[in-house]
Amino acid sequence: MSPARPVLEVLESGAVHDRASARAFVDEHIAPRANGFERDGRIPEELLERMGAAGLWAPFLPRESGGADMDMVTLGEVHEEVGRGCSSVRSLLTVHTMLSWALRRWGSDAQRERWESELARGTTLGAFCLSEPGAGSDAAGIASTAVESGGGWTLNGTKKWITNGQRADLYLVFARTAGSIGAFLVPRDTPGVQVCPIPEILGTRASMLAEVTFRDVRLGPESLLGPSGFTAGMVLTGTLDLGRYSVATGSVGIIQACLEACAAYTNQREVGGSALRNLQLIQAKVSDMVTDVRAARLLCHEAGRLKDARDSTTIMATWVAKYFASTRAATHASEAVQIHGANGCGPDYPVARLYRDSKVMEIIEGSNEIQRVTIAGEAYREMKL
Ligand SMILES: Cc1cc2nc3c(=O)[nH]c(=O)nc-3n(C[C@H](O)[C@H](O)[C@H](O)COP(=O)(O)OP(=O)(O)OC[C@H]3O[C@@H](n4cnc5c(N)ncnc54)[C@H](O)[C@@H]3O)c2cc1C
Repeated sequence: MSPARPVLEVLESGAVHDRASARAFVDEHIAPRANGFERDGRIPEELLERMGAAGLWAPFLPRESGGADMDMVTLGEVHEEVGRGCSSVRSLLTVHTMLSWALRRWGSDAQRERWESELARGTTLGAFCLSEPGAGSDAAGIASTAVESGGGWTLNGTKKWITNGQRADLYLVFARTAGSIGAFLVPRDTPGVQVCPIPEILGTRASMLAEVTFRDVRLGPESLLGPSGFTAGMVLTGTLDLGRYSVATGSVGIIQACLEACAAYTNQREVGGSALRNLQLIQAKVSDMVTDVRAARLLCHEAGRLKDARDSTTIMATWVAKYFASTRAATHASEAVQIHGANGCGPDYPVARLYRDSKVMEIIEGSNEIQRVTIAGEAYREMKL
């Protein structure tokens, strides 16, 4: 990768540091091209580099590592804007964020020294490897193993549905160790790592999904994140919470994109001599989008504010935000296709892509069913029942 040219270009127009600069970046470099990314099934290298030059990959990292010390509320707003433009790009940011944040939170000095500035610049891209062919919602059911031997580890197993698995340079891999689950940093070029692309996915088609197999992969002791035996609960809870927050904000972006597409379309499309915008049944759909996008954004803001305050109730707030935002995104993306009629089913408008992408949001980072079970369980706990 050669970041020199994009760095100069983007520095002229300013790095992404808040919602407004993210919106400008997305409107120029992402949203107009998103249907093409979906058709190609990948995000072009040129955009990945441009995102690095704009400081988009891990802006929450400290300045000394090349980040921007960005707070979580602002990070959520940036991910919302990227999600408004393209859920595939936002998905890449999500998994990269999860790995980078885990490294920051639990990495040793040596691990941070090795990877952090590359992750901040996007010259190393990350992926998050938890799901397996036989284990998704039930993370405790993973079968991959990491056996301690010769002062290091031997990793075996298969991870499936790995966002950015095709392109990532560094994987955060969860595997069974003696009596626990460990989190390991595995460079993609380690012997024994095999990457098999997964094509023709329903949504987020440009997120470069892969099945990643680890066959007798030899890892040094420095590959384990956090002290042995500790990682399972802490790393998983923290990274999944942050990934869920990113998906929640990205889902807000989907609703906003539906609203903007529908407003523009109904303003110019005439039926029976009148613009669609004048029909009350259309107005009802648009007003529901307006209401839900504001509500979902507020829920995300609350989750982000609690993260910034290091308040552990952010976990419940994030479950609620993700459940609400993803289900409303799926509803409104369906209505957006409906409003566009046949045009909504074709490739010339963004809504068919938004519809496909929105369904995925109801499955990843904790499916709707899992969210409902956990939200209810936590509600009873809060009420001491
Ligand atoms: C586009 C895409 C990208 C992904 N990216 C990644 C990634 O980067 N890294 C990664 O590790 N994984 C990734 N995943 C996998 C994703 O995390 C899992 O699909 C998700 O956790 C659900 O697991 P599953 O598909 O195995 O469904 P299952 O766990 O088999 O569940 C099947 C159905 O049963 C329901 N169900 C399960 N348990 C319960 C319960 N207790 N009560 C009620 N209903 C229940 C589920 O909600 C679901 O509807 C991705 C998936 C997709 C589609």
